[in-house]
Amino acid sequence: MRLYVDFDDVLSETAWSLSRLVKEMFGRDVPYEQIRVFNLQIAFSLNDAEIAALMRMAHCESFLAGMPDTPGAVEGVRNLMEAGHEVTVVTGRPACSHAGSVAWLARFGLSDLPLLHVDKYGRAAAAPQLPGQPETLTKADLARMDFDIAIDDSPDALALLADRQTCRVFVYDRPWNQTYRQAPNMIRVYSWREIVDRIMKG
Ligand SMILES: [Mg+2]
Repeated sequence: MRLYVDFDDVLSETAWSLSRLVKEMFGRDVPYEQIRVFNLQIAFSLNDAEIAALMRMAHCESFLAGMPDTPGAVEGVRNLMEAGHEVTVVTGRPACSHAGSVAWLARFGLSDLPLLHVDKYGRAAAAPQLPGQPETLTKADLARMDFDIAIDDSPDALALLADRQTCRVFVYDRPWNQTYRQAPNMIRVYSWREIVDRIMKG
């Protein structure tokens, strides 16, 4: 099967890492469990200058490459690939994060995974593509791509997948998607073990 796997908070523990970064940079303590909205500026109560500074740090290669993996994600992806499934990482991260994202995948032995940057949140226009960065795909590009299963956590990204008739969507359980109203093609999943079990069983 063709699988769409999101990066942040599906493969890597991004919100947890950002929570630590916010504490380091601004002395503000917002634990992961308290991140109840997907908008980071609101979640961490940051002003415009602070969120800009946070995003600059968050897109640094060293920060991206150093994030911990989501429990079971690396082993789960490997098992699915070994079983013949086609896994593509579909991230909403901007293209400027590409080097750090590739470095993270290499750190966990997942360099052979295709990595696509898709403008899931409508922010690409604010960050023009620079030489050496991959193309950022549009929502329309994504709509033309076929997947049998998609795994994502962010309400805005899930909304892009809600109308698909032939794609099962796994909503990765996170504090900020607790009140998300799932479409008929969606189920909530709680761990990578559950994801792998469900896919292997068909
Ligand atoms: Mg995500």
